[in-house]
Amino acid sequence: MINLFDLTGQTALVTGARTGLGQGIALALAGAGADIVGLGSRPMDDTAQKVTSLGRKFSCLEIDLSQPFDATQVMVDAKHPNILVNNAGIIRRADLPEATMEDWDDVLTVNLRAAYELSQAFAKARIETARPGRIINIASMLSYQGGIRVASYTASKHAIVGLTRALANELAPYGITVNAIAPGYMDTDNTAALRADTHRNAEILGRIPAGRWGQPQDLASAILFLASTASSYVTAVTLPVDGGWLSR
Ligand code: NAP
Repeated sequence: MINLFDLTGQTALVTGARTGLGQGIALALAGAGADIVGLGSRPMDDTAQKVTSLGRKFSCLEIDLSQPFDATQVMVDAKHPNILVNNAGIIRRADLPEATMEDWDDVLTVNLRAAYELSQAFAKARIETARPGRIINIASMLSYQGGIRVASYTASKHAIVGLTRALANELAPYGITVNAIAPGYMDTDNTAALRADTHRNAEILGRIPAGRWGQPQDLASAILFLASTASSYVTAVTLPVDGGWLSR
């Protein structure tokens, strides 16, 4: 049987691949045969070691997405990937009266502006060479809900769904699909504060029908589906991987 999710010979650029979901995504893609370019503000030796131990190539682009950067040069340095995963993201928690404009700018810059800039440069390169491509954005439960004390994050994650739809419409004629995955509550650094708060942890767990926090590897099958040729007629979708959270 043909392996629909085979990514042999392909290259994926994954932002935020040093830790958490980004590392899980990089390993899922590498496991299916793709070489990986990880982009983050710090070196990612652990991810490099894990990807290469799967027999795939790994390179790291050390770029701080909260600062101005040259997205066109990123595509050149990444050797023109055919899969882009906009995963890097930050969250700042504060009661509204205390939240700063610096927090707002940082969150919107990393979570939204950088994803837009990289998607634009990626699409331009794919269109110029008449080649198809896959863009996968990482959304959130806060693409659907308001959340508490995280207004900037919620705004960025609602916007990422709108961006996914807008780019999907524009890029479909070129064979470039643009989809998003909305992870539920996942066990990563991003949610360490929530898990450390006994009350919030119990509240959250009690609402997840699957009865557990998600793990980075829970995203693997969704990523492979959206990255592969199997999904060439699927675009503009945001796929929740949430243990049932949204239906509760
Ligand atoms: P994480 O472990 O904190 O990972 C965030 C990643 O983003 C890190 O690898 C970090 O790499 C990168 N990053 C942060 N700021 C950056 C910057 N200025 N420039 C470049 N890279 C930067 O958290 P995570 O949970 O895996 O989050 C990954 C994505 O999933 C985020 O978009 C998050 O919003 C989303 N998400 C998470 C959950 C959850 O429950 N955990 C749920 C829904 C959505 P460096 O440290 O190398 O910069």
